[in-house]
Amino acid sequence: MSEQIVPPAMLGILGGGQLGRYFVMAARTMGYRTTVLEPDPDSPAGKVADVHIVAPYDDPAALDVLAETCAVVTTEFENAPASALARVAERIPVYPSPAAIATCQDRIAEKRFLDEIGVSVGPWVSIETDDDLAGAADRIYFPAILKTARLGYDGKGQVRVHAHSDLAAAWETLGRVPCVLEERLSLSRELSVVLARTADGRTACYPVAQNQHIHGVLDTTHVPASLPGDGQAQAAELCTYIAEELGYVGVMAVEMFVVGRNVFVNELAPRPHNSGHYTLDACATSQFEQQVRAVCGLGLGSTKLSVAGVAMVNLLGDLWEGGEPHWPAVLGEQHAHLHLYGKAEARPGRKMGHLTVTTGTAMGSSALAKRIRKRLTTDRG
Ligand code: ADP
Ligand code: MG
Repeated sequence: MSEQIVPPAMLGILGGGQLGRYFVMAARTMGYRTTVLEPDPDSPAGKVADVHIVAPYDDPAALDVLAETCAVVTTEFENAPASALARVAERIPVYPSPAAIATCQDRIAEKRFLDEIGVSVGPWVSIETDDDLAGAADRIYFPAILKTARLGYDGKGQVRVHAHSDLAAAWETLGRVPCVLEERLSLSRELSVVLARTADGRTACYPVAQNQHIHGVLDTTHVPASLPGDGQAQAAELCTYIAEELGYVGVMAVEMFVVGRNVFVNELAPRPHNSGHYTLDACATSQFEQQVRAVCGLGLGSTKLSVAGVAMVNLLGDLWEGGEPHWPAVLGEQHAHLHLYGKAEARPGRKMGHLTVTTGTAMGSSALAKRIRKRLTTDRG
């Protein structure tokens, strides 16, 4: 095992969202100190960190403070500027590496990387010039989806393209920035695997999660996904291979599409993942404690489920439209767990929190979690 970073070292993180908040809470529980770099003065992670540097992610002075005060720096979102991370990486370890993040934050680079290492992705072409627009008709069946290569999340930066004749207008809508055009696949299901890897190459995978998205945003996750034969082991092997080829260090998630009997990798998230939130309530080690362990070079924790099945449903800002949700609907349930991220303003589509249910099977938990979520609005007085 290479050198370990131990408490009370200072751990730095770029980004102040809910993923950063859970990282900070896990680190603090273990006795580390934490610094968050995040421009929003009222961010979920900034509120719970020891030090919150309120500055843009690429602010040189702020990055130098991170480099001077932290033992290691990580990130909680893929759009952290790779050049900013590279500045810090000149002086202290940054995990995942700026190069790995750069691959994951550009859909063109990401798909090329997966192609090169022989991992199946769905049919796609890059759209960067007018010639690419014309050529797409020969290589892609429509309907298709046009996605900006960079800065998309939760279905943002994506346009459905029904026929080739709609493609030019769709690209115009996205500002003619570099894009990928993907065939719209008829998904049998969506899966994800969260895994961790240390600098000296040790890895640990969580059980495969099955995910339902609505309008491009994760709605429900249940675990374990029911897979035929040795599907769990095969998925773990595939995702570990990707992390190794990427030289990845930290926690990452691999999103997959199942189409009939084929598995395609959809995208890589260089950070803990919404579909891994169930680990907070249903695994021996949460994905956030695992992130601390991985970037600090500690032994990785057990990824075993501590229950038979678990489900997570997201709580989006829409639930607040008629006033505060009726929290007793979840707080009165023995096997339900409420998580709120401390965001002051509830906008439609904004991830405000989630709830998990840990009873019986994954499917049973999923049904109960959805029923409880419904009661948050229907039982409101
Ligand atoms: P994001 O970065 O916003 O998560 P994704 O590429 O993962 O972007 O797309 C979000 C969701 O949209 C996916 O989880 C899936 O439900 C749907 N989707 C994306 N690409 C395709 C596709 N090629 N075919 C069918 N559905 C897709
Ligand atoms: Mg996605």
